[in-house]
Amino acid sequence: VKDRLLESVGPNNFANWIEPLELKRVDNGVAEFSVRTNFMANWVARNFSDTILTHLKGADVPASRVEFRVEPHSGSSAPVATAPKSAQPVDATPEVPGAAPAGEDLPGAPLDPRFTFDNFVVGKPNELAHAAARRVAEGGPVTFNPLFLYGGVGLGKTHLMHAIAHEIRQRRPELRVLYLSAEQFMYRFVQALRDRQMIDFKQIFRSVDVLMVDDVQFIAGKDSTQEEFFHTFNALVDQGKQIIISADRAPGEIKDMEDRIRSRLQCGLVVDLHPTDYELRLGVLQTKAETYRAQYPDLRFAEGVLEFLAHRISTNVRVLEGALMRLFAFASLVGREITLDLTQECLSDILKQSDRKVTVEEIQRKVAEHYAIRLSDMIGPKRVRSIARPRQVAMYLAKQLTSRSLPEIGRRFGGRDHTTVMHGVRRIEELKGTDSQIADDIELLRRALEA
Ligand code: ADP
Ligand code: MG
Repeated sequence: VKDRLLESVGPNNFANWIEPLELKRVDNGVAEFSVRTNFMANWVARNFSDTILTHLKGADVPASRVEFRVEPHSGSSAPVATAPKSAQPVDATPEVPGAAPAGEDLPGAPLDPRFTFDNFVVGKPNELAHAAARRVAEGGPVTFNPLFLYGGVGLGKTHLMHAIAHEIRQRRPELRVLYLSAEQFMYRFVQALRDRQMIDFKQIFRSVDVLMVDDVQFIAGKDSTQEEFFHTFNALVDQGKQIIISADRAPGEIKDMEDRIRSRLQCGLVVDLHPTDYELRLGVLQTKAETYRAQYPDLRFAEGVLEFLAHRISTNVRVLEGALMRLFAFASLVGREITLDLTQECLSDILKQSDRKVTVEEIQRKVAEHYAIRLSDMIGPKRVRSIARPRQVAMYLAKQLTSRSLPEIGRRFGGRDHTTVMHGVRRIEELKGTDSQIADDIELLRRALEA
């Protein structure tokens, strides 16, 4: 079986991970191997279980599961010290002969290769977070420790953290970078407790150069995990190691987080990712659309579709990406040009769902305020231009920013007919092109409404 494994995993992996394994017994369909350290057990279990099982079966070993047991060390507390040279597993030593690049020998989560700085679109809402992330990744003389990134779902926290990790690995491959979610941190901690492997656990987490913990709000209320996290954090900061944390809210707003941890989290740089604005959404859509165009060269793409999506889909970039992907897939399947109609047809559920909470009433209120007219005049009968024009602007924005139909909008404007609404919307569309004052007003109002 080992010979076959050598072929399938390659000589480096074999020397590091497979060769030191010893088959102890096969019992009740469980093939039990002994390994030297818990770290190794986890690594092998995670990366080679299936391969090992396949080859065992190929050799008619009656196993349906593999397990890796750590053999207690005889007396010594230094886990690798007693291991024979030839079979010495790569534990927390800096050089990993022939294995994955430095850093990847750590029990972290895999990095998404697409989450790089190059693929990150920068706009007003995320420029500070982006700049801070870059600074930390470049490791200049002035850095921020810890860097605390926070913001709502799908705004790019994980993307930025992976980007930092990629960048550091490229610039300084000798550094040990460990990225994982707070949930994974907890899972590993609990596992270490259960397996009485806390020494290994501490050794691994305290020997990294850069520790990144994503979604730290997860450990709020989990007392002993918090405690361990706090100690890990302090040990690393004391050694001058870089820590990067993300959360869905500011440190001060994480409930059930101990005060001492909260204040530790705040002592570096805290930056937030704001909800995306129209320009950023459009930027993201344009970038992604370019890749899709390369993938589907035959697809035709009507103007205004991306703008429409940037207007209408929520601030969450993940939702935006998903929508675009579906749109391209759908269009290529049915072989049609991507038009506004097709977009509305294909994405009706997303559009409905992410119909931001902007209501027609809210639009009327904001527009009335902006032009200093009475709200009652919005729905009233007056036809003087000083009132009719703002009313048309409000109708136009209602059409753009909500999913209300023309008759529905008309009803909210004092029971006007849908043709009146259509006329108003068209009028503003024309004016926008010729009257820069109107264009500016609309831009301003849209921002205010989307904020
Ligand atoms: P979070 O961790 O804040 O919930 P993610 O980092 O997972 O969000 O981002 C969600 C998705 O949106 C990912 O696919 C990510 O690549 C993408 N994304 C977010 N912000 C940007 C951005 N500024 N430019 C390009 N892609 C982005
Ligand atoms: Mg995330």
